[in-house]
Amino acid sequence: MAALPEPIALLINALSQLPGVGPRSAERIALHLVQAETGAVRQLAEAILHARERVRFCDPCGALTEQSPCAICADRRRDGSLVCVVERPVDILSLEKSRAFGGQYHVLGGRISPLGGVEPEDLRIAELETRLAGGGIKEIVLALGTDVEGEATGYYLAKRLARPGLRITRIGYGLPAGTGLEFADELTLSHALEGRREMQP
Ligand code: ZN
Repeated sequence: MAALPEPIALLINALSQLPGVGPRSAERIALHLVQAETGAVRQLAEAILHARERVRFCDPCGALTEQSPCAICADRRRDGSLVCVVERPVDILSLEKSRAFGGQYHVLGGRISPLGGVEPEDLRIAELETRLAGGGIKEIVLALGTDVEGEATGYYLAKRLARPGLRITRIGYGLPAGTGLEFADELTLSHALEGRREMQP
Protein backbone atom coordinates (compact mmCIF):
# COMPACT_ATOMS: atom_id res chain seq x y z
CA MET A 1 0.00 0.00 0.00
CA ALA A 2 1.40 3.39 -0.96
CA ALA A 3 2.13 5.64 1.99
CA LEU A 4 -0.15 8.64 2.48
CA PRO A 5 1.42 12.04 1.77
CA GLU A 6 2.89 13.34 5.01
CA PRO A 7 0.49 16.32 5.43
CA ILE A 8 -2.45 13.90 5.35
CA ALA A 9 -0.81 11.57 7.86
CA LEU A 10 -0.19 14.55 10.16
CA LEU A 11 -3.80 15.70 9.81
CA ILE A 12 -5.11 12.21 10.60
CA ASN A 13 -2.89 12.10 13.65
CA ALA A 14 -4.12 15.52 14.84
CA LEU A 15 -7.79 14.64 14.28
CA SER A 16 -7.51 11.33 16.10
CA GLN A 17 -6.52 13.23 19.28
CA LEU A 18 -10.05 14.67 19.40
CA PRO A 19 -12.57 13.07 21.78
CA GLY A 20 -14.80 10.54 20.11
CA VAL A 21 -12.76 10.46 16.90
CA GLY A 22 -11.26 7.03 16.26
CA PRO A 23 -8.55 6.28 13.66
CA ARG A 24 -11.06 5.41 10.94
CA SER A 25 -13.12 8.57 11.43
CA ALA A 26 -9.92 10.64 11.54
CA GLU A 27 -8.89 9.15 8.21
CA ARG A 28 -12.31 9.77 6.68
CA ILE A 29 -12.42 13.40 7.85
CA ALA A 30 -8.84 14.07 6.71
CA LEU A 31 -9.45 12.64 3.24
CA HIS A 32 -12.65 14.69 3.00
CA LEU A 33 -10.87 17.90 4.02
CA VAL A 34 -7.96 17.59 1.57
CA GLN A 35 -10.43 17.19 -1.28
CA ALA A 36 -12.92 19.82 -0.16
CA GLU A 37 -13.16 23.36 -1.46
CA THR A 38 -10.37 25.54 -0.04
CA GLY A 39 -12.82 28.24 1.06
CA ALA A 40 -14.91 25.80 3.10
CA VAL A 41 -11.81 24.37 4.80
CA ARG A 42 -10.54 27.86 5.62
CA GLN A 43 -13.97 28.71 7.12
CA LEU A 44 -13.82 25.63 9.34
CA ALA A 45 -10.25 26.41 10.47
CA GLU A 46 -11.25 29.99 11.26
CA ALA A 47 -14.37 28.90 13.16
CA ILE A 48 -12.21 26.63 15.34
CA LEU A 49 -9.69 29.39 16.06
CA HIS A 50 -12.39 32.00 16.61
CA ALA A 51 -14.22 29.80 19.13
CA ARG A 52 -11.01 28.95 20.95
CA GLU A 53 -9.96 32.60 21.21
CA ARG A 54 -13.36 33.99 22.21
CA VAL A 55 -14.48 31.42 24.75
CA ARG A 56 -13.17 31.40 28.30
CA PHE A 57 -14.19 30.14 31.71
CA CYS A 58 -16.57 32.22 33.82
CA ASP A 59 -14.65 33.31 36.95
CA PRO A 60 -17.39 32.62 39.53
CA CYS A 61 -18.95 29.43 38.14
CA GLY A 62 -16.47 27.94 35.66
CA ALA A 63 -18.95 27.73 32.76
CA LEU A 64 -17.79 28.38 29.21
CA THR A 65 -18.60 31.94 28.26
CA GLU A 66 -17.57 34.87 26.10
CA GLN A 67 -17.80 37.24 29.05
CA SER A 68 -17.17 36.71 32.73
CA PRO A 69 -19.44 36.70 34.68
CA CYS A 70 -21.53 34.55 32.35
CA ALA A 71 -25.19 35.27 31.55
CA ILE A 72 -26.39 32.93 34.33
CA CYS A 73 -24.09 34.39 37.02
CA ALA A 74 -25.09 37.91 35.95
CA ASP A 75 -28.85 37.16 35.98
CA ARG A 76 -30.29 38.76 39.12
CA ARG A 77 -33.62 36.95 38.67
CA ARG A 78 -31.89 33.69 39.50
CA ASP A 79 -31.73 32.45 43.08
CA GLY A 80 -28.21 33.12 44.35
CA SER A 81 -28.86 31.19 47.58
CA LEU A 82 -29.02 27.93 45.60
CA VAL A 83 -25.91 26.61 43.85
CA CYS A 84 -25.89 23.45 41.75
CA VAL A 85 -22.51 21.71 41.49
CA VAL A 86 -21.81 19.89 38.22
CA GLU A 87 -18.79 18.12 36.77
CA ARG A 88 -18.55 19.78 33.37
CA PRO A 89 -19.75 22.95 31.62
CA VAL A 90 -21.95 20.85 29.31
CA ASP A 91 -23.96 19.62 32.33
CA ILE A 92 -25.28 23.17 32.76
CA LEU A 93 -26.86 22.92 29.31
CA SER A 94 -28.60 19.66 30.25
CA LEU A 95 -30.00 21.14 33.47
CA GLU A 96 -31.04 24.40 31.80
CA LYS A 97 -32.97 22.41 29.18
CA SER A 98 -34.99 20.80 31.98
CA ARG A 99 -36.04 24.32 33.12
CA ALA A 100 -36.34 22.90 36.63
CA PHE A 101 -33.50 24.86 38.21
CA GLY A 102 -33.53 28.59 38.92
CA GLY A 103 -30.34 28.93 40.95
CA GLN A 104 -26.68 29.39 40.11
CA TYR A 105 -24.10 26.81 39.05
CA HIS A 106 -20.59 25.77 39.94
CA VAL A 107 -18.49 23.65 37.57
CA LEU A 108 -15.95 21.37 39.26
CA GLY A 109 -14.06 20.60 36.07
CA GLY A 110 -14.22 16.84 36.58
CA ARG A 111 -14.50 14.40 39.45
CA ILE A 112 -12.11 12.92 41.94
CA SER A 113 -10.46 9.91 40.32
CA PRO A 114 -7.49 8.35 42.12
CA LEU A 115 -6.91 5.99 39.19
CA GLY A 116 -7.18 8.80 36.64
CA GLY A 117 -4.81 10.97 38.66
CA VAL A 118 -7.46 13.58 39.54
CA GLU A 119 -7.09 14.85 43.10
CA PRO A 120 -9.42 17.25 44.91
CA GLU A 121 -6.91 20.08 44.34
CA ASP A 122 -7.31 19.61 40.58
CA LEU A 123 -10.99 20.55 40.82
CA ARG A 124 -12.59 23.95 41.43
CA ILE A 125 -13.43 23.15 45.06
CA ALA A 126 -11.42 25.99 46.60
CA GLU A 127 -13.32 28.39 44.32
CA LEU A 128 -16.58 26.95 45.65
CA GLU A 129 -15.39 27.48 49.23
CA THR A 130 -14.58 31.08 48.35
CA ARG A 131 -18.14 31.52 47.07
CA LEU A 132 -19.50 29.96 50.27
CA ALA A 133 -17.33 32.26 52.39
CA GLY A 134 -18.84 35.20 50.52
CA GLY A 135 -22.16 34.38 52.20
CA GLY A 136 -25.71 34.15 50.90
CA ILE A 137 -25.58 30.50 49.78
CA LYS A 138 -28.13 28.40 51.66
CA GLU A 139 -28.11 25.20 49.64
CA ILE A 140 -25.60 23.29 47.55
CA VAL A 141 -27.19 20.82 45.15
CA LEU A 142 -24.77 18.13 44.00
CA ALA A 143 -25.61 17.01 40.45
CA LEU A 144 -22.73 14.65 39.72
CA GLY A 145 -22.48 11.44 37.72
CA THR A 146 -24.15 8.38 39.20
CA ASP A 147 -21.10 6.14 38.74
CA VAL A 148 -18.65 5.20 41.49
CA GLU A 149 -16.38 8.22 41.04
CA GLY A 150 -19.32 10.62 40.87
CA GLU A 151 -20.70 9.16 44.10
CA ALA A 152 -17.32 9.31 45.84
CA THR A 153 -16.86 12.93 44.75
CA GLY A 154 -20.30 13.75 46.16
CA TYR A 155 -19.48 12.27 49.56
CA TYR A 156 -16.13 14.03 49.63
CA LEU A 157 -17.79 17.37 48.89
CA ALA A 158 -20.60 16.84 51.41
CA LYS A 159 -17.98 16.32 54.10
CA ARG A 160 -15.64 19.11 53.06
CA LEU A 161 -18.32 21.74 52.45
CA ALA A 162 -20.38 21.00 55.57
CA ARG A 163 -20.91 24.11 57.67
CA PRO A 164 -23.67 25.42 59.92
CA GLY A 165 -26.72 26.71 58.12
CA LEU A 166 -25.81 25.13 54.78
CA ARG A 167 -28.03 22.44 53.30
CA ILE A 168 -26.21 19.97 51.05
CA THR A 169 -28.46 17.93 48.82
CA ARG A 170 -27.93 15.61 45.91
CA ILE A 171 -29.93 14.69 42.89
CA GLY A 172 -29.47 11.33 41.24
CA TYR A 173 -32.48 9.40 42.39
CA GLY A 174 -34.16 8.20 39.23
CA LEU A 175 -31.17 8.96 37.02
CA PRO A 176 -29.80 6.04 35.01
CA ALA A 177 -27.08 4.36 37.08
CA GLY A 178 -23.49 4.73 36.04
CA THR A 179 -24.01 7.64 33.63
CA GLY A 180 -23.59 11.37 33.36
CA LEU A 181 -26.31 14.00 33.18
CA GLU A 182 -26.21 14.17 29.38
CA PHE A 183 -27.88 10.77 29.13
CA ALA A 184 -30.92 11.81 31.16
CA ASP A 185 -33.89 13.37 29.41
CA GLU A 186 -35.36 16.68 30.55
CA LEU A 187 -38.25 15.17 32.48
CA THR A 188 -35.97 12.78 34.36
CA LEU A 189 -33.65 15.65 35.25
CA SER A 190 -36.47 17.85 36.50
CA HIS A 191 -37.80 14.96 38.65
CA ALA A 192 -34.27 14.32 39.94
CA LEU A 193 -33.96 17.99 40.92
CA GLU A 194 -37.36 18.14 42.60
CA GLY A 195 -36.64 14.90 44.45
CA ARG A 196 -33.24 15.96 45.72
CA ARG A 197 -32.43 14.80 49.23
CA GLU A 198 -30.24 16.05 51.97
CA MET A 199 -26.88 14.32 52.38
CA GLN A 200 -25.72 13.31 55.84
CA PRO A 201 -22.06 14.22 56.18
ZN1 ZN B 1 -20.90 31.96 35.51
